[in-house]
Amino acid sequence: MKPAPFTYHRPRSLDEALSVLAEVGDEGKVLAGGQSLLPMLSMRLASPGHLVDVNAVPGLDTVVADGAVGDGVVRVGALVRHSALERDGGATATQPLLARALRHVAHPTIRNRGTTVGSIAHADPSAEMPAVLLLLGGSVEAASVRGSRTVAAADLFAGPLETTLAPDELLVAATFPATAPRTGTAVCELARRHGDYAVVGVVAAVGLAVDGTVERARAAYVSAGDGDVVDLTAAAAGADPARPGWAHEAGELARSQVGVEPDIHASGDYRSQLVAVLTARALTEAAGDARVTRAQETKARETSEGAA
Ligand code: FAD
Repeated sequence: MKPAPFTYHRPRSLDEALSVLAEVGDEGKVLAGGQSLLPMLSMRLASPGHLVDVNAVPGLDTVVADGAVGDGVVRVGALVRHSALERDGGATATQPLLARALRHVAHPTIRNRGTTVGSIAHADPSAEMPAVLLLLGGSVEAASVRGSRTVAAADLFAGPLETTLAPDELLVAATFPATAPRTGTAVCELARRHGDYAVVGVVAAVGLAVDGTVERARAAYVSAGDGDVVDLTAAAAGADPARPGWAHEAGELARSQVGVEPDIHASGDYRSQLVAVLTARALTEAAGDARVTRAQETKARETSEGAA
């Protein structure tokens, strides 16, 4: 099939893009990497009267990373491709979860074109980057002719393929906070082939107490759940992450809290089983990552105390 007819706009500045979006209102759609929108147009799952291609708008393709552990952020512009973010050393140093998750997003050719902010705007429950933004407590900057506003991830997603953005708002950037001290992250998912959408995916963070036991555990889900971050601390706090099987109980807690739907790829029972197993696996990996981070932080502190 071919897309329904539309008028194509290619604004050359942010102001021009926002004016066009205001003018066309409900009839407009932003075109970024096109990796989700163009298939939807071709299948006539969407038929906007106006496409506003923002690829010629300057200043939207930068990554700014503040590398300070604990209070840094990574700000990703609207035209930053998944592959550029994945390769950005500053972003990876500040928030390693970005590159970890991006490796699971589609295939390299799609990552070369698709944008991370576009994936967030698309709000697909099977996409990794909305889950990452939610888990980390990040935010987006939305601009329109009325001005700019910051929207917390928790207030952005309204349901499958739906956000709380107005039709004339353009996301200009997404901001991902750095990992907190003594905290580690991990992504575990099962896909039929590497790069396919996950049957179930888990993005997890584990924070350790000063004595090395688990203090906090949280997870966000891909292709499962309702988009809320699930706090698993009650089943994990106080565990020794060096003890095999410590995360099993948290996996079972996740199974009881994360709703799943059957579809042609997997039954509900199978998805629930994946939620439990992949949660335990992701928490175990995240705790391993936290132990490394904790050791590096201790060494850095001892070195700076020695030098003082
Ligand atoms: P577009 O397709 O251009 O736009 C998508 C939607 O977001 C549209 O509604 C558009 O109007 C809106 N939008 C885009 N940018 C903005 C903005 N700045 N402000 C406001 N609205 C905006 N993704 C995954 O996460 N995991 C996968 O495993 C995965 N597998 C894929 C496999 C295939 C075969 C394909 C084709 C895609 C896959 N994707 C996957 C999707 C891919 O990651 C897309 O890049 C992403 O979903 C959308 O980014 P985009 O820049 O291409 O957005």
